[in-house]
Amino acid sequence: MLRVAIVGSGFGGIAAAVRLKQAGITFTVFERSDDLGGVWNENTYPGVEVDNFAHWYSFSFRTYDWSRTHPGQKELKDYLNDTVDKFGVREHFRFGNAVERIEWDENAQWYWVHLSDGSTETFEFVVSAVGLFNKPRIPEWPGLERFQGIKFHSARWEHQHDLTGKRVAVVGTGSTGVQIVNALAPIVGQLTVFQREPGWLFSKGEHVFTSEERRRFSRTLGYRWQRFKYFYREQTKGWGGKNLQPGTPQNAKAQAACERYIAKVFKDRPDLAKAVTPDYPYGGKRQVLASGFYESLLLGHVTLVPQAVERVTETGIVDAEGITHEVDVLVMATGFEAADYLNTLEVIGRGGRSLREAWNGEPEAFLGISVPDFPNFGILYGPNTNQGNVIFGLETSVNYVVRNLKRMKRTGVTSIDVRRSHFVIYNRWLQRRLAKSALAKAKNYHKSASGRLVLPFPTNMGWYWVFCRIFRRWAAVDYRVERKVVAIEQPAEDGVVRSNPANRHLGSGGPEVIVRFAKDNQ
Ligand code: NAP
Repeated sequence: MLRVAIVGSGFGGIAAAVRLKQAGITFTVFERSDDLGGVWNENTYPGVEVDNFAHWYSFSFRTYDWSRTHPGQKELKDYLNDTVDKFGVREHFRFGNAVERIEWDENAQWYWVHLSDGSTETFEFVVSAVGLFNKPRIPEWPGLERFQGIKFHSARWEHQHDLTGKRVAVVGTGSTGVQIVNALAPIVGQLTVFQREPGWLFSKGEHVFTSEERRRFSRTLGYRWQRFKYFYREQTKGWGGKNLQPGTPQNAKAQAACERYIAKVFKDRPDLAKAVTPDYPYGGKRQVLASGFYESLLLGHVTLVPQAVERVTETGIVDAEGITHEVDVLVMATGFEAADYLNTLEVIGRGGRSLREAWNGEPEAFLGISVPDFPNFGILYGPNTNQGNVIFGLETSVNYVVRNLKRMKRTGVTSIDVRRSHFVIYNRWLQRRLAKSALAKAKNYHKSASGRLVLPFPTNMGWYWVFCRIFRRWAAVDYRVERKVVAIEQPAEDGVVRSNPANRHLGSGGPEVIVRFAKDNQ
């Protein structure tokens, strides 16, 4: 029996569910929240929408009648629900139950999966689809806890407050902050935007599709052509990672386009033009894609404070120059602890060693998916896979994992690990390539505490697809362990088969001795 636990039900978890169902492999999706969607379930702030094109930021296996070039959070969630129903995988989802810890059992050749409801189950394979932007970064500003007004992080928006006419501060001008500023500017009384360091920004040209466009894209060929166009554009722009390498014509061209946009909007406000122009090369932080943000800064009731926050008082925010800004509401659009991979999931591999120990603050994996001594464990959106369209990267990783699983099913291999040599060489190559990137030369969330770039893939993701197709078999180490039934556990009254960790000693007598379930023997 091959059973797979998928942790998380965002785009990655759903792609894995669909592909596993198609492959005829048994699986369960565990989701800590009450609903599916991952970041698109958690981020409900005003103005939230994707900054990639709809037909490209979607599954290769599910077309949709998109209403906009860049859909909002609700439409994206509708799409995910539609996909789950269309492919008949909803019954495999278990909501409100988080996977907290997984522990590899070498004898049994499975993981003990410990859940937040206190139960433990076993799965031969675990797929982490917990994503990257799941742990909000809450600043440690002195005085924050004493602030008497309304305060929350962008990913935990408190919709019960009516912000109309209020004095609102938005801290952070990343992809999230700029969308919030655009959405709040028309309704609030006063908006103060705190920008610690500006980002290079493009206008993304979003619009609602006309009925003619929707008709055209509803034809399979029209949809596929749209998708291919954006795929092609992304691959050629990002070819060899040149657009993110300072000193290349591609990088200079991208930076010049951003500079022209600044010059155009702020032609009468050189102070603002200076404040929003980064002093690091294009690509040093993830580019921000938003129309209207610069224009919002020109509004009379909007103030840009190009300073870090120094501290918070009971009624306001003190900037790095010591000036206090009185506000009623403090919105922290301060991002996520992205480099702290798998922070919600404790993974214990061979020899009782945890993934956290193995990584020692510097997450790395082979193709972002596999780590030596953590067999039968696949990471989606893992270390160094952040580049271009996330959904394309996720599907590529899912296909890699599913091909391994199909091989296990076909051949009877009980576990697959990655060769350490491949893991080491691949990560050396990554870091050598990334050293040329603008990301290495700026402050950003792509780095671990030591400064190592642990998020980005160094070139266009077409290469990631190629690597995943070519290297999977070469990098694999297979184990085939004979299994013998020594104990049988009956399904519980609710029909769910749960293993009892107390029986683990039964599995410690040798590789051929394992516990099996009644359900397995039927
Ligand atoms: P982010 O890009 O990390 O931006 C966080 C912002 O908060 C930055 O401006 C940062 O300044 C500032 N900040 C952080 N800590 C601070 C502190 N202690 N004091 C003052 N300022 C502080 O986070 P994000 O905007 O939430 O976006 C994260 C990622 O999510 C994006 O890069 C993107 O990949 C994804 N995203 C996508 C979409 C979309 O598709 N539409 C929307 C939102 C997010 P510094 O730059 O100085 O650190």
